[in-house]
This record gives sequence, C-alpha cells and structure tokens, in this order.
Amino acid sequence: MSLRISVIGTGYLGATHAACMAELGFEVLGLDVDQAKIDSLSRGELPFHEPGLPELLLKHIASGRLRFTTSYEEVGAWADVHFIGVGTPQKAGDNAADLTYVDAATLSLARNITKDALIVGKSTVPVGTARRLQQLVIKNKNDGVDVGFAWNPEFLREGFAVLDTLTPDRLVVGVENAEAEAVLREVYATALAANTPFISTDFETAELVKVAANAFLATKISFINAFSEVTEAVGGDIGTLADAIGHDTRIGRRFLNAGVGFGGGCLPKDIRALQARVSELGLERTMRFLSEVDEINLRRRDRVVFLAEDMLGELAGKKIAVLGVAFKPDSDDVRDSPALDVAARLFNAGADVNVYDPQANANAAQRFPRLNYVGSIANAAHDADLVILLTEWAEFKSLSPTDLDGMVRGKRFIDGRNVLAMGVWQDAGWDITALGHKHLD
Ligand code: NAD
Repeated sequence: MSLRISVIGTGYLGATHAACMAELGFEVLGLDVDQAKIDSLSRGELPFHEPGLPELLLKHIASGRLRFTTSYEEVGAWADVHFIGVGTPQKAGDNAADLTYVDAATLSLARNITKDALIVGKSTVPVGTARRLQQLVIKNKNDGVDVGFAWNPEFLREGFAVLDTLTPDRLVVGVENAEAEAVLREVYATALAANTPFISTDFETAELVKVAANAFLATKISFINAFSEVTEAVGGDIGTLADAIGHDTRIGRRFLNAGVGFGGGCLPKDIRALQARVSELGLERTMRFLSEVDEINLRRRDRVVFLAEDMLGELAGKKIAVLGVAFKPDSDDVRDSPALDVAARLFNAGADVNVYDPQANANAAQRFPRLNYVGSIANAAHDADLVILLTEWAEFKSLSPTDLDGMVRGKRFIDGRNVLAMGVWQDAGWDITALGHKHLD
C-alpha cells in the first residue's frame, strides 16, 4: 500500500509540499494550527500566490488524495511519514532563529503518533536542532510505537515552488539508519527515477547544506552589489561587469544581478541565524563576513532613498510611484521585502507614495497600511514626480516610456533592478538611473 503522508505547517513550503506529494500519487493530510488557513485550503483556495499551485490544490482535493485538518490526533493515527514545514522566523531583537514553532510541532506529533511512523524535518534550522528534536521525540512518544527521525531540507524557490518540488536539483536527507533512508527513497521515487542526485548524510550535514546554500547565494548577491557601490562612484556598467565575470563557469552568471538586494522569509533570517549559531559554538569570527553581506544588502535600500532625494530635492509633498513591493517577482511574499522597506521609508520622509504590485498589495497593506495601494501601473504613475521599479515583475520589465506618456508630472525613473534599457528612456526625455550606475544630472 502506498505511503500516507502528513505535512505539518501549510504555509509556502508546506502547502506546496502537500499538493506535490498528492501529485506524485500519495494520500496526503496537511495540518496547520491556523484554522482560517485550513478552511481556505480545504475549499481549494490557496491563501498566497504561487504559480501552478492553485491548479494542483484543486486537482487533488477533487481526486480525494489531499485533505487538510487542524487535528494532530487525526494525523498521528493516520500517516506513515510526517513532514514538518512550520516557520523558523528570526527572533525579535535577536539574530537567532525562533524555534518555538518547530519544537511545538515536533512535540505535538510525538505525543499523538499512535502507529509506526517516520518524522522528517523540512524547516530551515540551526545545526544541532535535528538531534535535539530527535531526543524530544524519543522522550515524548507513546510506548510501543516505533517513531523514526530524519532531516530533509527544502530548497524550493517561491515563484517556482511546484517545479522545484516535483523536479528538484538535488535531494538531501539526514538519516541515522537504512529504514529511514528507504522510506525517503520511496517518497522521492519519481525524482530518483529521473536521476536526481540523492545525498544521504548525517543530521548535521543535512542541516548545514541548507544554510550553506543560502549563505552562498546571499554572498553572491552582495558581492555584485558591493561592486555596484564602486561603479556608482567611478562610472562603469555593472551589468557588463556581471556578464563578463559570469562567463567564467567557476563563477556563473546567475544571482549576479545588481539591484536593491535580497529579502524574503529565507535569505536574510537564515544568514543571521547562521551567525548566531556559530557564535554559540564559539566560532564568532567564522561567519563574520555574513554581517558584511547583510550590511551591503541593506545599504542598497539607502541608495534608492538617496537617489530619490537627489532627483527630487525635498521628498516631502512629492508624489512617488513604486512599482513592486513583493520581495521577488511571481510571489506575493513581502517578508523582509527591500521594495516595501524603501516604499515605507519614502513615505516616512514625507512623500506621497502610490504602490502597485501585481500580487502583493494586500500583504503589503497588512504590514504597512499607510501607503496608497493602487491596481495598475497607470494609477500608480498618475501625476508622479518619480517612478521607482523595485520588483522585477514581467509587466514592469516590459515597460516602455510610451506606456507612461502623459501620466507623470516629472519624467524621473529609478530602476532598482537593472531591468530597463536606460538609453531608450533617456532618448524619450527621461532622467533615469539604475542601481550600480553613476547618477549624472
Ligand atoms: P510560513 O510562515 O508560510 O508557514 C509556516 C506555517 O506553519 C504557518 O501556516 C503556521 O500557521 C504553521 N505553524 C506554526 N506553528 C505550527 C504548529 N505548531 N503546528 C502546525 N503548524 C504550525 O513559512 P514558510 O515560508 O512556509 O517556511 C517554513 C519553513 O520552511 C521555514 O523554516 C523556512 O525557512 C523554510 N523554507 C521556506 C522556503 C520558502 O521559499 N518559503 C524555502 C525553503 C525552506
């Protein structure tokens, strides 16, 4: 009989994992403590934006393979494999990860599992967490029930979450015995049949692979953004520089796009949590470079505000159109979004800020309600003294000066993602600049 799978925590990671496991043919039960989220998912309504996921959700609610619950009792009596995908956000006022959700979920599972099962952690956690949680399970599980433990970090990218889950680049599992590995090989049989690399290792390596990957990606982005600071000072073309070094296959072109930097619910908190964890281990100096990576990243936001002031003089009373508030395109996620941060700072400096994002207006309005959220580029640009592109959605990348003809009060543009052909805009009479470029009046 096919494995029954539960997914604990049905946010971006968990809802995607649950629907994709159903797509692979398993029976799946998703669990969350948020009743409203469970009600919405049960109706087939995805509470966030993720391309391709609404279709899978509806398909497998209809097929009967995908259900949702808030009951740990139900999950514990039913599933053979329990994936944990609850949040591990940054602690308030601290770099470290807040592990209260992952601890609570593991404890609830351990107490409610009444048939032999394997618990598999997927959340991103500081190294050492898996071993600690394994002990929590051993101490709290019911007598006579065999509960295994494994760690299987998740590498999906928002915007490509379905694709990344169904056809991952690689699978990494931290296991302590052949039984746990065999179960995970069965879960991922489809990907394994397609020759996906399968790395079976210990708990610590599995946990570290995830944070190492994110630390590397964040470093790559801040590396090119540090060079942006140089080209902004002396002139030069940051895009050409990135292309040129990117041709070296040891470097590679991806993640070398200069711009307003990284954000979201993963990279920023993961590089901070890694620094906190290695400091706990007495290795204070080891990851210190990541605090520079973080600072370079945050300075990009200052640069946009500086350029806005440079172009407009006083910000108070000026009308600014902000295009994009999601932390990246094809997502409605505004957690630690550079774009929303910049928009909020412009507002706090006295500007009248119109915001348009194809998907993230509602989430942004919850976090920063005082901005003026509008439903189109045209509404945002109406009478604007300055337009700023901060998230590289396709509809912004294809923007041309004629699209804004007669709308703005002042033809000024800041391309915070380096996606527009500046020459075309300059020829159309715009004062346009982009991050990584020297701003000439
Ligand atoms: P999220 O905030 O969207 O979802 C977390 C969910 O867990 C929420 O729905 C919350 O209600 C639920 N939850 C909290 N406590 C619970 C409990 N005790 N029992 C059951 N459910 C509980 O977060 P996310 O973006 O899905 O991230 C989850 C984890 O996955 C994090 O560790 C994150 O770093 C990691 N991750 C995320 C991504 C991504 O792109 N979002 C990618 C890879 C890894």
